[in-house]
Amino acid sequence: MIIDAHTHIFPPEFARDRVALTVRDPWFAATHGATSARMATAEELVASIDDAGIAAAVACGWPWRDNGLCRAHNEYLLDAARRWPGRILPLAIVAPTAGRAALAEAVRALDAGAVGIGELNADAQGFDFADPAPLAPLAALLTARGRPLLIHTSEPVGHQYPGKGTATPDRLLPFFQAQPELRVVAAHWGGGLPFYALMPEIAALTRNVWYDAAATTYLYDFAIFRHIAAIVGPERILWGTDYPLLRHRPFLRHTREVGLDDAALAAILGGNAQQVYSSQ
Ligand SMILES: [Zn+2]
Repeated sequence: MIIDAHTHIFPPEFARDRVALTVRDPWFAATHGATSARMATAEELVASIDDAGIAAAVACGWPWRDNGLCRAHNEYLLDAARRWPGRILPLAIVAPTAGRAALAEAVRALDAGAVGIGELNADAQGFDFADPAPLAPLAALLTARGRPLLIHTSEPVGHQYPGKGTATPDRLLPFFQAQPELRVVAAHWGGGLPFYALMPEIAALTRNVWYDAAATTYLYDFAIFRHIAAIVGPERILWGTDYPLLRHRPFLRHTREVGLDDAALAAILGGNAQQVYSSQ
């Protein structure tokens, strides 16, 4: 069973209102200002995973700075999950700077079927993982519910790209230290964090962290699947594309060609996501 653990979908009206949204949200303007930046609907996501033989997709909205926009986006995700039960696994988004309103929205969305919260984005939403106190209530809620948090992370080195941001491994560690029981999925290979898991103290700090492969094509040689599996174990890797940024079929083909053994491939392509996103 193959699960894409990292996709983004938008309500059709958000695509129609793209220009107005770029005025309201600077991060969205940076990533989606160009009309060439794709915005997929739930229908398009389901058609794409069907075409590639993928059973289900973890679907994110967008890390809006405005908690009201988060809530509207969550409504669409939760409705899509009701329309395609078991195929669209919705992650709810909240704006951590909204404080109690963010927490209330997280509770509402989890009660309505969200499988976790994410993809939280420090730069987009105006917080800092290196200052973890404001995130504590949300982390406590997720820990109590046995639900994971998906966070955007990025590399401290390498090329610049729209949406890269500054949530680099050094900034993430204080958050993991403050929330040792919270299960976290660090997107985009944790910005390279798992390489440091060869340091015993980093391995200990990140024992509840999983890494997803979202956007690999733009960031790394696909050999990264083998290297990270050798360091942290294949059971800590989730296969995610960042659809619609990347297409399902070629991403799946490249993953199958990296030389993982069958057990590791099965875990990475779906088994791990099933475990992480089932309630614990
Ligand atoms: Zn991301």
